Amino acid sequence: SHHLPRQLHERSHRSFHTQKPAKCKHFLPKEWEEPFTLPELGLDWAFLLNRKNRDVIAENIAQRKGVGDIDKVLALADELKAEKNAEQKKIIKENLISEAFDIPNFSHPNSPIGDDTEAQEVNVVGSKREFGFKPRMVREIAGKGLRMYRDENLTFTTGSKTYFLEDGLARLEEALVMYTVERLMAKGFELVSVPDLLQCDVVDSCGFKTSTDRSQVYRLHPKCFTDVCLSGTAEMALAGYFMNDVIPHEELPKKVMAVSRCYRAEAAEKAIERGLYRVHHFTKVEMFGVTASENGTESDNLLQDILSVEIELFENLGLHFRVLEMPTQELGAPAHRKYDIEAWMHGKNIWGEISSCSNCTDFQSRRLNIRYTDPSGQRRYAHTVNGTGCAVPRMIISILEQNQQQGRKLTLPEALWPYMDGETYLSGD
Ligand code: AMP
Repeated sequence: SHHLPRQLHERSHRSFHTQKPAKCKHFLPKEWEEPFTLPELGLDWAFLLNRKNRDVIAENIAQRKGVGDIDKVLALADELKAEKNAEQKKIIKENLISEAFDIPNFSHPNSPIGDDTEAQEVNVVGSKREFGFKPRMVREIAGKGLRMYRDENLTFTTGSKTYFLEDGLARLEEALVMYTVERLMAKGFELVSVPDLLQCDVVDSCGFKTSTDRSQVYRLHPKCFTDVCLSGTAEMALAGYFMNDVIPHEELPKKVMAVSRCYRAEAAEKAIERGLYRVHHFTKVEMFGVTASENGTESDNLLQDILSVEIELFENLGLHFRVLEMPTQELGAPAHRKYDIEAWMHGKNIWGEISSCSNCTDFQSRRLNIRYTDPSGQRRYAHTVNGTGCAVPRMIISILEQNQQQGRKLTLPEALWPYMDGETYLSGD
């Protein structure tokens, strides 16, 4: 094996087989049950089932969206312990696990408590442009103006929330991806090419719901595949990439990125919504990081790193945007702390989210069994962090609406010229 290239040697400690779910032996008290399989993996059972922690957990739940019920979890745990019948035990166990899965991560002490109105503006970059005319929406600029966008005649696809980009705009998508990937490589993010088809277990373990009525992701028909989803974000595949790994501490933080198509069911929104803002599929460059956890500060430092990378990417494109520290009810289940970036969208006169980065601490790593060896040789759960480098449709909205001109011409941000074969503007003439 000494003939193997260095990289393969480094990889040889890996065992990330999603085919056969990993078995977990030590999360529920031993006397209760046989080993669990992947979907049940990775909650801090000891912490959850320790009654002393109940008030802390309950208070955290109350400050978040109110999802998760620690009293129910504890009641089911008691039932499970008392039950003698094996069939009944199995049912109770399943209930217990599904209830426990709803218990969210803990929030960062800096996260404002409350709903989206409590979001805290921490930074504003650039300023609002003044136009000598009524600013238009992206659909008009790209469609009627540049004649490079179409969302008619899409009945052969999902119909609404779908689009074609043509000619210069299609190349702008490629340019944005290349611009982002090159800059992220320079910042030490390694490019990984990821799958778009994922086992639902992996998706659930990342904190996304695959089995509720209003699923965020598309589930493939069981006659074709068993329990397979279309990836909603490369974060899912990148988290799965590290599943079952034990990473030597010298290799941390791991910083990777991927370019992928993202598929979103967006079932909660009304059926017909035109434009690029909320679509069923789009291209995105995603950053993902794995850090140590023994000091408790490593992942928050990486979150700050990723946030500053995002700011630099968007500032270089000349965009006007703001950074928000997101409140507890906006953290979803997995995030411990989260920043959103919103760009000014002149068409609708709104701040529109273009990017988001989260520190998920050990929420995903416990569920996916991502560990590392600390300097003393002890195995610990790692922390995971993710952030949007470039969500193409929202970038196109921001760039087109903020740079719009009267007529059929649009000057592109200078940072993109090298990726557009030197072209400096788009023209519909
Ligand atoms: P999320 O993974 O949901 O945090 O999304 C990451 C970024 O992708 C967001 O900040 C948006 O810029 C973009 N995004 C999310 N959902 C959609 C969608 N349905 N259509 C277009 N862009 C989206």
